[in-house]
Amino acid sequence: MSENKPKRLESAKAVSAALRQYYEDIWAGHPLAWSVVSSNPLNDICRMLGIRVAYPENYACVCAAQHFSEKYCTIAEANNYKPELCSYIRNNFGYLLAQDNDHPLGGIPKPDLLMVVSNACLNYLKWFDALRLFFDKPYVVLNTPHRMFDYEVPDYYIRYVAREIEECIGQLEKISGNKVTDQKLKETAHLSREQGKYWRELLDLNKAVPAPMNLSDLANLIFVPSSLSGTQHGVDLLKLATAEIKERIKKREGAIQDERHRLVMFNIPPWYRLGFVNYFAQRGCVFPFGDYNRYLWYTQDFEDTDPIEYFAKKGLSFGLDGGCGSTIAETLYGCIGDRLARDIKEFKIDGAVVAINKSCKIMSTGALDVANLIHERFHLPVVLIDVDQADERTYAEGQVQQRLEAFFEMLENK
Ligand code: SF4
Repeated sequence: MSENKPKRLESAKAVSAALRQYYEDIWAGHPLAWSVVSSNPLNDICRMLGIRVAYPENYACVCAAQHFSEKYCTIAEANNYKPELCSYIRNNFGYLLAQDNDHPLGGIPKPDLLMVVSNACLNYLKWFDALRLFFDKPYVVLNTPHRMFDYEVPDYYIRYVAREIEECIGQLEKISGNKVTDQKLKETAHLSREQGKYWRELLDLNKAVPAPMNLSDLANLIFVPSSLSGTQHGVDLLKLATAEIKERIKKREGAIQDERHRLVMFNIPPWYRLGFVNYFAQRGCVFPFGDYNRYLWYTQDFEDTDPIEYFAKKGLSFGLDGGCGSTIAETLYGCIGDRLARDIKEFKIDGAVVAINKSCKIMSTGALDVANLIHERFHLPVVLIDVDQADERTYAEGQVQQRLEAFFEMLENK
């Protein structure tokens, strides 16, 4: 087993600094919105109005990464939040109900308003509805209809969401006491689009051999499009990372020193064990992509000359190629098949890690079918592991390692 530790990106330092700064800034003034990180144009719009935005979902990842999830999930469950609920929700309510002040990064301030978009999973809506009852604060909902069969977004969907956005802008202007100007709308839509371009370029650059980024690098970088959307700072950070990755490719420098296997990871990574990529790296395995960062949000480009239309399309978008779906489930199912076949070829994938995530049913439904498909259609070794993205109590180290050892053997004998 080689040392083969992943080499950290220099730009990751700037991203970590931005993350720390971001958690400081959300304490610096009001109003503060709590929101969801999916492809959510309300977050961009808030920045134009001087409304700060905090993401309990991102903060749950931070809590998990800093090993607070056991404490928060236990507190939430003791207060009758069911263990079957997504662990992001249990982390969030456990944080709110904790009796002490010992919180990662100093915690997040209580919200002045709550915002949600219906394009991701049902849990978002129920979670934020529960937060509305908990805080009794204004509630702004962007309704993005789900399309069930068509790949193309019908025009009347775009018109409907554009009207919804205008209504939300009216509500947010009232709350903030500020006005959205045409100029600001244009600038922010453009920055949001620019960020998407850099994000897609970064994802594509990882087709290079050796892969310049590992899964942990992508997990770190996704903070930028998810939390700094529509800002110049976000664009600058992704530009910096893109330049560094291009340099790495020029020098044929990989994320790990001795790349022997290129794997794809399905599902959300366990945030409390991001170091598990080191375990793979010791066996010469790198992850050039995962379905989580490649097939979900920030992966489509839209014209931004009409900013409201741009934001409407953003709210309706998931996936690549004109959008495979308008919800996480549709997107993932839409991508499994030809899209995955192309990516397996282009990223030169030779094995797959399929996580079954107790919390995120929406990303885990069909996981066994994905594993079978990869094995039968692409003849690649596959390993199934049980994880929960933000409840560390469920992680059975011994069992995971045992399965991985058998998987490494399959890879070597392929
Ligand atoms: S169930 Fe899945 S998609 Fe929904 S909030 Fe939890 S992790 Fe996100």
